[in-house]
Amino acid sequence: MLSKVLSSATYGIDAYLVEVETNVERNIPSFIIVGLPDNAVKESRERVTAAIKNSGFNFPMNKITVNLAPADIKKEGSSFDLALAVGLLSAIDIISNPDDLKDVVILGELSLDGKLRAIKGALPIAVEAKKKDIKKIILPVESANEAAIVDGIEVYGMESLQEVVEFLNGKLEKEKTISSKEEIFSSINQYHLDFSDVKGQENVKRALEVAAAGGHNILMIGPPGSGKTMLAKRLPSILPPLTFDEALETTKIHSVAGILQKDKALITERPFRSPHHTVSDAALVGGGSFPRPGEVSFAHYGVLFLDELPEFKKNVLEVLRQPLEDSKVTVSRSKLSLEFPANFMLAAAMNPCPCGYYTDPNRECTCAPPQIQRYMAKISGPLLDRIDIHIEVPAVKYKELSAETKSEKSSDIRERVINARQVQLKRFPNSDRIFNNGDMGSKEVRQYCKLDSAGSELLKMAMMKLGLSARAYDRILKVSRTIADLDNAESILPQHISEAIQYRSLDRELWKH
Ligand SMILES: [Zn+2]
Repeated sequence: MLSKVLSSATYGIDAYLVEVETNVERNIPSFIIVGLPDNAVKESRERVTAAIKNSGFNFPMNKITVNLAPADIKKEGSSFDLALAVGLLSAIDIISNPDDLKDVVILGELSLDGKLRAIKGALPIAVEAKKKDIKKIILPVESANEAAIVDGIEVYGMESLQEVVEFLNGKLEKEKTISSKEEIFSSINQYHLDFSDVKGQENVKRALEVAAAGGHNILMIGPPGSGKTMLAKRLPSILPPLTFDEALETTKIHSVAGILQKDKALITERPFRSPHHTVSDAALVGGGSFPRPGEVSFAHYGVLFLDELPEFKKNVLEVLRQPLEDSKVTVSRSKLSLEFPANFMLAAAMNPCPCGYYTDPNRECTCAPPQIQRYMAKISGPLLDRIDIHIEVPAVKYKELSAETKSEKSSDIRERVINARQVQLKRFPNSDRIFNNGDMGSKEVRQYCKLDSAGSELLKMAMMKLGLSARAYDRILKVSRTIADLDNAESILPQHISEAIQYRSLDRELWKH
């Protein structure tokens, strides 16, 4: 009258196994679940009862006690339904061979008629099950492709409780779900957006290339309609290709959050996330009483794009600091602290002033100077400190838009980015913190960004003439290093410095405050 079934759940972006023990004894009918269930798990009782009856099985009019172990982790959500139903049917011998359940993980939400619904986190659960030498996973058919990405574990996708019972009793043959690695690999890094779609704006494209090559965060400043968003959206297509391991890690995060597209077993493109400026700090970096990853983690190994940067709430921009610094978010809870990976490139965009037309030669700006200063002041400080490149995006000239000439393809730009990144990997061979020029601290800047006398003279002149800050000095050196790397040049030459100086728009001209 006692049965044991294995199930699993996620905590953070990792999974753990849960043992579902069901005891059925003759007594006044009742159904209780213990072992720190949340409300959704408690509601399982109703779904499981209805699903068992509506699948044509007898529901026992006895005392039913279910224990979820380990007892010290809060169980949430509805994905234990199927394991609860199977455990109950096994305890009353409707499932005949309980030994067969020893190395099977069972997951799925039940609807009242006994059909199975997709679950979140199938990929991390399959990873954990494999680690624990589990042989099989039984789960809703909609989640099966995702779980089948993991090698060395049999995945069976099912439609209903009835199917699962017949399968476990050996009365139904079922094919294993196979996720074709070749097929997935062939679609990896195929971007549907390409830089060749964007006419003109060659300067901005070059700045984005430099940003991608050195892992520098970038801010684009320009009037509405100049194509800032269009350009930013194409940034993932020039970053180095996503590796299979990176794709797996990114997919785990999206899987746990339930934002993975239904027909996608694996994320095959570097993510591009652009949260609206009304986003809350918790939605941006993650958190909550049952901690969930936020936008910065959804952008892991990809691009986080913040359009209308000055419109974001101040406290929201402040929480970006930790992930920008550490490439991860740490959420502390009473018992344990959780880490969500958040290694992303930041691209931001803004209008040059509140009305938007300050830099547009064709439209008149209606803003008073103090208004512009207040607007710019919203983004100053620690966040701006993490942005190496500022570039002006001018209004597109009609001539450029109508030009027949085709712009360069993303794949060609990406080749140069890959080469420059390889140079950097050799530069920082033993570091677990610095992978590209954008990660350098001032110590590394001194070491790797030495200038010859002509170079330092040029930079000194520019600093004086443009009134650049000491802060800008290090950033110019870092970006110069990347430009030299793109140029395959061992040392930083004056032309590399000149180009890098151009990428400090906010440090000069009329925006300075
Ligand atoms: Zn204006």
